[in-house]
Amino acid sequence: MRFEFTEEEEMLRNQIRRLTREKIAPLSNAVAEEEESREIALQIIRLLGDRGFCGLYVPQEFGGAGISSVGICIVREELSKVSHLADVLYAELGLATYGITLKGRGEQKRTYLPRVAKGDLLGSFSLTEPDAGSDVAAIQTRAKKNGDSYILNGEKTFASVAGLADLYLLFAKTDPEKGRKGISAFLVEAGTKGAEISEMGMMAGGPEYTIRLDDCHLPLNSLVGEEGDGWDIAFGTLDVFRATVGAAMLGVAQAALEEAFDYARKRVAFGRPIGSFQAIQFKLADMATEIEASRWLIYRAAHLKDEGKLSRTIKYASMAKLFTTEMAWRVADEAVQIHGGSGVTKGVKVERLLREARLARIYEGTSEIQRLTIYRELERGF
Ligand SMILES: Cc1cc2nc3c(=O)[nH]c(=O)nc-3n(C[C@H](O)[C@H](O)[C@H](O)COP(=O)(O)OP(=O)(O)OC[C@H]3O[C@@H](n4cnc5c(N)ncnc54)[C@H](O)[C@@H]3O)c2cc1C
Repeated sequence: MRFEFTEEEEMLRNQIRRLTREKIAPLSNAVAEEEESREIALQIIRLLGDRGFCGLYVPQEFGGAGISSVGICIVREELSKVSHLADVLYAELGLATYGITLKGRGEQKRTYLPRVAKGDLLGSFSLTEPDAGSDVAAIQTRAKKNGDSYILNGEKTFASVAGLADLYLLFAKTDPEKGRKGISAFLVEAGTKGAEISEMGMMAGGPEYTIRLDDCHLPLNSLVGEEGDGWDIAFGTLDVFRATVGAAMLGVAQAALEEAFDYARKRVAFGRPIGSFQAIQFKLADMATEIEASRWLIYRAAHLKDEGKLSRTIKYASMAKLFTTEMAWRVADEAVQIHGGSGVTKGVKVERLLREARLARIYEGTSEIQRLTIYRELERGF
């Protein structure tokens, strides 16, 4: 059992904490929640690239530090404490490009991976459609080979930060008869004719977008791997990122706890700080305990992934995602409760944290889908 970070991991945590506090927080505070800014998004991702954090997505031979699930979790935990936008930009870069490492051709790796490591690229992962979310095999977007191009038609939804991105990893069916084996993955450069982006209105800032594909022509070399590799690329990617969603929510929960703790010491009712009431102390103690339990699940799942213990990773990654996203929702809700009326006022940090926590129980596999996965793994043996 490992109960401590290694010296290297501890160093990584200190570095990302410092960067987040000194540079990323002021940058993300500069954008209003509903406002998108590609300029600020680029600045954030470049800062993360310059300091080596994007390199955690890239093998060393392409200029990265080598893929590290524990490292990615550490970065996401710290980013999400202060900036949902920075966390989403960082996560989507990995989601959009990990498939290139998994199955990409040599030329795709040489073109994109050094840019990923440097933070010289904004990405978006586009799998979901209006009629297919949890049921990925039901996607309808069609990619037909025609001479020297693929022609794509269909509609994708919930593509996070697509409107700010340079590159989308987009999934479409090349052979609808084959179900999940007929899904392929494509790299689509932003601005490609026939791919129209529009922003969706969300309860918390992603931002999320739809991508309408209308006779969108892509060169043959935009296919990642072979036709039919899309399912493995999508789930190979999600296998790495599932525990990291938990890490982001760990950061959200920790931030909510710290806000509530401070507020409880300052807010006076009946002549005393509310933090002196045992009912409030118990809430804070339960919140801290749940956070700590989640931390072990997340870092255990990430560690198993890095060790290549794949058969156990699936179960633990789903447990980590399920438990931590549900925990973050409960903790953020209690933090709002401790703030009383001020907790539901727009602009107050805990109100924003509560909305962010709500979203994470849905994306990258809903809580119900995680439970199905865990149960399926139980059937394979304890
Ligand atoms: C903020 C946000 C960001 C997102 N970002 C991205 C992104 O970047 N890229 C992307 O491709 N997608 C993204 N998504 C989409 C997300 O992955 C889907 O919303 C999610 O997978 C659920 O799909 P759905 O919304 O179609 O719900 P459905 O699949 O229609 O599910 C509806 C409800 O039924 C339940 N359900 C479905 N099947 C079962 C079952 N077999 N057993 C029990 N219950 C079931 C679900 O758990 C859910 O409660 C994002 C979503 C959100 C909210």
